[in-house]
Amino acid sequence: MKKAKALVLFSGGLDSILAAELLRRQGADVQALSFKSYFFNDGAAIKAARDMDIPLRVEDFSEEHLKLVKNPPHGFGKAANPCIDCHALMLKKAKEIMEKEGFDFVATGEVLGERPMSQNRQSLEVVQRESSLDGYLLRPLSAKLLPPTIPEEKGLIDREKLLDISGRSRKKQMELAGMWGIKDYPSPAGGCLLTDPGFGRRLRDLLRIYPEFNGNDVQLLKVGRHFWEDSAKIVVGREEKENEDIRGLARKGDVLIEMKDCPGPLTLVRNYSSGDVLKAVEKAKQFTREYSKKAGPGAEFLIDKR
Ligand code: SF4
Repeated sequence: MKKAKALVLFSGGLDSILAAELLRRQGADVQALSFKSYFFNDGAAIKAARDMDIPLRVEDFSEEHLKLVKNPPHGFGKAANPCIDCHALMLKKAKEIMEKEGFDFVATGEVLGERPMSQNRQSLEVVQRESSLDGYLLRPLSAKLLPPTIPEEKGLIDREKLLDISGRSRKKQMELAGMWGIKDYPSPAGGCLLTDPGFGRRLRDLLRIYPEFNGNDVQLLKVGRHFWEDSAKIVVGREEKENEDIRGLARKGDVLIEMKDCPGPLTLVRNYSSGDVLKAVEKAKQFTREYSKKAGPGAEFLIDKR
């Protein structure tokens, strides 16, 4: 019988590892596909693919994903995670690759009911419809609870050997991992910044005040303490490495502030309106002095207007 050629959406988390392994154990030729964006990287996928010894392809879809994060048709989860639309976008890309490169189907590690917003029956259907994968999307871990797919109907994949896992408990997945000797895997959804409530708040504030933000603005959200003064953002470095990152991200129009002759934070003021930033600069000076423990009342500031 022809060997099935499977393109598996692969984050490197336990579910995607199990989905890939389940198909491999059926004799399928498995190619892992991972994505990276401003909010998650390919680190876990690279490690897991190496551990499993399966080929991995990484697609950088940062700009397209950023556009989606700004305006997700199906909204956000608990933080700023537009999981339904994010999954649909990944699957659309997977479909293009499947068609171009002759894969028989696309598979994911999705589990029915595991995540309340993005993995309930309705969301799985929405994602399938929006990706236009129709019968070519196989969820091996929950397949027996879902309608048969084309590779199952064609006999490329044996439905009997697929699973019927559902719900939020990960007990079955962990048992399976134990049986198959899979020991090293990251915690669920640990790799996506959009699920982090603190980061989510920062991102939503920025979205409200300046929806035209770009990748540089997102990178800035990842470092330092953040404050707003009207429509100006103030970012205060908490350690030397953050100071360096902030300096590296500074762009035309930003103001950088630090204490002269005194170790402490580098503070950046970025104006997101056409008004002036005098008030924000004064506030930024206060923070800079406050967090420079050794700065006396007469210490001077170094101000660099980009
Ligand atoms: S957790 Fe992050 S990477 Fe995963 S689907 Fe949701 S938004 Fe996308």
